[in-house]
Formats: sequence, structure tokens, C-alpha cells
Amino acid sequence: MPVRTGVFICSCGPNVGGRMDIERIAAEAAGMTGVVLAETFGLLCSPKGKQYLAEKIRENRLDRVVIAACSPREHEATFMQVCESAGLNPFMMEMANIREQVAWVTSDPQAATRKALRVVTAAVDRIDRHIPLQKTSIVCNPEVMVVGGGIAGMTASLLLADADRRVTLLERSVELGGLTDAETAGKARELAVLVSRRDEITVLTGSEPREIVGFFGNFIVSVDDDQDVIRVGSIVLATGCRWNGPGTAEPAEGFADIARMLRVPLDETGFPGREHDSLAPVSTPIDGIHLAGCAGGPCSLEEAVRSAEAAAGTILSTLVPGREVETEPRTSVISETLCRGCRTCMDVCGFGAISFDSERNVCTVNGVLCKGCGNCAAACPSGAVRSMHFTPDQLRYQMTGALR
Ligand code: SF4
Ligand code: SF4
Repeated sequence: MPVRTGVFICSCGPNVGGRMDIERIAAEAAGMTGVVLAETFGLLCSPKGKQYLAEKIRENRLDRVVIAACSPREHEATFMQVCESAGLNPFMMEMANIREQVAWVTSDPQAATRKALRVVTAAVDRIDRHIPLQKTSIVCNPEVMVVGGGIAGMTASLLLADADRRVTLLERSVELGGLTDAETAGKARELAVLVSRRDEITVLTGSEPREIVGFFGNFIVSVDDDQDVIRVGSIVLATGCRWNGPGTAEPAEGFADIARMLRVPLDETGFPGREHDSLAPVSTPIDGIHLAGCAGGPCSLEEAVRSAEAAAGTILSTLVPGREVETEPRTSVISETLCRGCRTCMDVCGFGAISFDSERNVCTVNGVLCKGCGNCAAACPSGAVRSMHFTPDQLRYQMTGALR
């Protein structure tokens, strides 16, 4: 059956429309293979624009949509939602970035129009090869594990308990409190008493994680040999740090092992990297793993408490009881036939999503952990990895469209 592609060119106010001839782009797009509709619109991301887009998809029974507008970083999610609401699989939508990549960097309007046409042609050619991908979701465990029973760990545990979350608080020494001085010892004692009164908090002293597997919403932690595994949805690392002399500190003993089990990357000082230094300073790049107190690096008592509050708040807003977490369908898959078991892909995956099956001598991707970054596909010397939504076929069509 012939495809029915709709091309929508957004003027983005004067941002795009004032810098190139978008009517000409629409007229040329209308003649491209598979295109049944090509129109311009003032501001597609506005409520009116979204309504217009959804109506056009339904009225024209479009099975593919190209949006020539801003960067996908800005509004891909917006337009995917519109497609979904109009009954179109959201992965049958492709954005052609004619704002950041054309309008804002190409001052001559005629040159900008020609360049934008190439970008639109590439998207129209590419979308011909798209296939609908299905999102899946997993049910999350709302319980939390806090590793480290110092002031930060106890503060986070109490806040989570206040919100009715069950918390397992692990402390490797024989009692709660962590490293304190004359100034902080009183506060630590006070918090330890409060923790001991809470039914929601299970304290395991003399304990540390021995093995952690799983992912956001479903971590399985083995603690002591004689104990059943503990299942939690999120983990707060609140393990503190050791002072090596004036001004220098290193993570607490055993922290590197925990970070390795969780696949949390460490910087050159041994402390964990952040998801984003300013926007997500208590979150690691691994979903569901958060930092409190000196586990993230040396900090004052006040900063430790604040980071514990932020970690607890992040968990309460992301790990909501009853809510399912959507998984990313744009993942990589490995062909067992082509894989030679060299494990190059494992080395380049920053998310610990690939494991090695020694019996069959092949690697496999855990689709829940995979973020679809494509590193493994680029690195595999056997061409065994296929990135969904970025297949060689799709990229070839896109490239030839741009160069035609
Ligand atoms: S890099 Fe390729 S061949 Fe090597 S283990 Fe990974 S998928 Fe298999
Ligand atoms: S696409 Fe990225 S996240 Fe997914 S398995 Fe490959 S390297 Fe890991």
C-alpha cells in the first residue's frame, strides 16, 4: 500500500518563516514521493498548532508525518504525543530541524531555503523506511534502599518514611551515626532515635550490599549470605567520605564496589558522576540511583541534609506507587548469528545494558537498561548490532535524500 506522508513546515513565528521561503518548501515537498499533504503553519507547538496537526493526521489518514521545525530536543516529545493522540504510532513521525540547523546559521534566505529543502527531503525519504515501534512499561517497586546510616542517610530515610515508603537502611558499621565530630554527634544521635521509632524503616547494621542487579523500579539486592534478597525500586547512596589530609577526600571504603555493581560511573577523584551537574545534582546517570551527603563528594552538614532532602524528593516524584515506567523502544538488538562474542560492545556501553552469555558465546542487550545511544552498533566489528529506529536502511535513505 502506498505511504501517506504529511509534511508540516512550522514558521516558528519569524524564527524560521522570516529567514527562508517556507511556502516554496511546502510546494516542493508536495511533489515528493509518498507526500499527500504539505502545509505551513505559524506555531505548530502552540495549543492551536497541535490541534491542527492532530486534525490533519486524522482527516487525511496520514501514516507518516514529517515536521520541519525546531530541534527534536525541543519538541520531539510534544509532536510524538500529538501523533499518539491522533492514532498514529509516534515513531512514524520524523522531525526535520530547519531552525537550529538552517534558519539560525544560514543568513542568506535563498541558501537557507535550498538547505532546508535538503533537510526536508532527507526526512521524507527516511520516513518511508520507518516501522512502528511499540512502547512497553514495567510496574515499579516503590520501596527504597538507603546505603549508609550517617546523617544524610538517616535524613533521607525519615523523609521517605514520612511519605509512607518502606525503607531498608544499610549501615556497614555496628551502629547508625556515621562519621561525626563534636558539632554533628548530637544531631546524629537525635536522628538515630527517630529512625529507631519508625516501623517503615528496617535498619540492617553490620551490612552492606554484596550483589545488586536490576534497574530503576526493580533492583534486587543481596545483603548477607544468610538473608533473602531485598527488592527495591530506587537506591540512595549515602556512604560518606574519608579525609586524606587537609582539603583532600576520597569515597568511603567499599564505595567503588557498590558503584561498579550499579554501573555508576566515577570521576578521577573516585566520586560518582551526575546526571546533570546543575539540573540533577543528586542523581547519577543510572536511573533510580541517587546521592546524599558526602557520597557525592565532600560537603558541609547543611549541604548533606539538603542533598538528602533532594534525593528523597526526587524518589517520591519519580517512583510513584502504582505508576508504570515506560521503557525506550529505540534500543539496540544483537544478532546471535553474527555476534562473535568479542565483547567490544560491553566495553563501550555506559549503561551496563549488555551481558555476555558464555555458553553460547554471544552478547545480549537488556532492552530495559538500553538507552539507545548506538555506541555498541558503531563499535561492533561484526555488524551484529542493530539500533532500532537507526537502521542502516533508514540512515542510507536519509543520507541519499540529503545529497540528492
Ligand atoms: S561487539 Fe559485536 S561481535 Fe563483539 S560481542 Fe558485541 S555484538 Fe558480538
Ligand atoms: S545502544 Fe547504547 S545503551 Fe544500548 S546497549 Fe548499545 S551501547 Fe548500551
